Amino acid sequence: MTTTITPLIAGNWKMNGLRGSLDELTALAGMLTTGEAPRAVVVICPPATILAAIARQGASAGILAGGQDCHAAPSGAHTGDISASMLVDAGAQYVIVGHSERREAHGESDADVRAKAEAAIGAGLKPIICVGETEAQRDSGQALDVVAAQLAGSIPDAAELHEIIVAYEPIWAIGTGRTPSNDDIAEMHNSIRDKLVQRFADKGASVRILYGGSLKPQNAREILAVDNVNGGLVGGASLLAKDFYTIISAV
Ligand code: PEP
Repeated sequence: MTTTITPLIAGNWKMNGLRGSLDELTALAGMLTTGEAPRAVVVICPPATILAAIARQGASAGILAGGQDCHAAPSGAHTGDISASMLVDAGAQYVIVGHSERREAHGESDADVRAKAEAAIGAGLKPIICVGETEAQRDSGQALDVVAAQLAGSIPDAAELHEIIVAYEPIWAIGTGRTPSNDDIAEMHNSIRDKLVQRFADKGASVRILYGGSLKPQNAREILAVDNVNGGLVGGASLLAKDFYTIISAV
């Protein structure tokens, strides 16, 4: 079966952005509404403090909002955490779960990520589930197996009936300016697609698989054209409207 997938470009602002950053959103909205209509779904995942403002102001330009993480529980004594329904309440439609920075700095396991993705789906969000290998794992030839294990452990069974997105982000490429070769990206994305189809059949064939890790205006066109790359998760280059727009336009 051939499935046509509309690409998605998501910006992960990480812990960057104050209310003044809404100027970048205004600039991006201007570019998206005056230029050629984007051929991708555009999502920005800002810090939670400005999520509601981004969701409100981005809407007229078709910019959707997402959270950067959510707790697995719907509410309760979890100081400093945010539930999936709170993100929905603030206007989010997506949420990143299992970003390598959270897996590493907050010790999140595949089971934790799966529980968060389940909570996100339960609240009506589309989880962007991140996977990716370390440099040592790639150098020792384990990248495909590591990512396959992360997929098996992090994607909930509910993905059979609900929309999820997978983001392949080699950890060694994040924020480093280094990227895998196009052949390595194709090999990994094809392998991810195979795993999704084995587990979810036709539904697995329609899941977006994003590439993330030093995606820039300079390399976006060729990376986004790789087989089974259905968009990108963009960190640093999503902070400047001009750069992010160039990446969106590369679709
Ligand atoms: C990320 O952290 O999700 C990411 C892709 O970062 P960068 O684009 O800066 O490498």
